[in-house]
Amino acid sequence: MKTNFKNISSIIGFALIQLSLIIFINGCFNSSETLAQKNEGKMEYQVNKSENEWKTELSQEEFDVLRNKGTERPFTGKYDHHFEDGNYKCAGCGEILFTSETKYDSGCGWPAFYYADSSKVNYIKDNTFGMVRTEVVCSNCGGHLGHVFEDGPKDKTGIRYCINSVSLKFEKDTLNNSTNKSD
Ligand SMILES: [Zn+2]
Repeated sequence: MKTNFKNISSIIGFALIQLSLIIFINGCFNSSETLAQKNEGKMEYQVNKSENEWKTELSQEEFDVLRNKGTERPFTGKYDHHFEDGNYKCAGCGEILFTSETKYDSGCGWPAFYYADSSKVNYIKDNTFGMVRTEVVCSNCGGHLGHVFEDGPKDKTGIRYCINSVSLKFEKDTLNNSTNKSD
């Protein structure tokens, strides 16, 4: 009987951890649906691969996030506090999605950007986990990137793209050419 109590308390403990995580995510994510309505219906992708093809091309972690809409644990992603100059490409198809110029530290535990080219990402309404959120996917391959919220920097766009590091591949700006700016 003692072991039963142990099991029950560990189950309750686990449930509490899950619940607090959901509360944390909910509190952190002040979401809006306006972007989801913006390009609804535009869901055809240039890159179309079978589940098996994706499985062989992607790592398990990349597959879980990009193809199964998983979320990396907060504060664990390799690009959360990464601020080198360059481009962030889709880890699924290689399309450039974000640039370092619009990346900032939101403190939420995932890489954050305040801008995305509307031709590069699609928005999908997401009602999972009892929240109303707007999912962001790559417009080229449909890979899940993260979510978008309207609590970004007020002096910029006011938008926060909260993106999984796993969904991105950073490419350093190797040109570093300051002479190409004419003014
Ligand atoms: Zn992609």
